[in-house]
Amino acid sequence: MLREWPNSYFCPLCYRNLETAFHLVAECPFSKQVWSVVATWPFCSNLSPDGWTADQDLQKWFKLLTTVSGHQGKGLQTLVLLVIWSLWKERNNRIFKQEELSAPRFIALLRDEVRTWIFAGAKHLDSLVGSIFIE
Ligand SMILES: [Zn+2]
Repeated sequence: MLREWPNSYFCPLCYRNLETAFHLVAECPFSKQVWSVVATWPFCSNLSPDGWTADQDLQKWFKLLTTVSGHQGKGLQTLVLLVIWSLWKERNNRIFKQEELSAPRFIALLRDEVRTWIFAGAKHLDSLVGSIFIE
């Protein structure tokens, strides 16, 4: 599914590059800004774009992000899917509703979404990053 989504000509997140699935979720400067912040959350250093190669394969990239030693892998899978889903929603809001969030606002809402998923019972996500919500 990730590979076959209908694309716009230019990426609606940066208006610079051609839109491909890999660009949108990984290479786009907007998305990289998001991943850089998410990578500062507990156990999430794997998600830092600094370590990414110019690999165009979404599946390999997803595996690279979520394959870790220990039991954090499931939480990372959930988190990566949540981030991808949020980026996709933002892309659609820009195209279909002409609504646009700044990266900091996007990240704030993403954080709220993570908390909502944890409240809804996302256990692995909770054991991964739940501590960021404890003041
Ligand atoms: Zn882009």
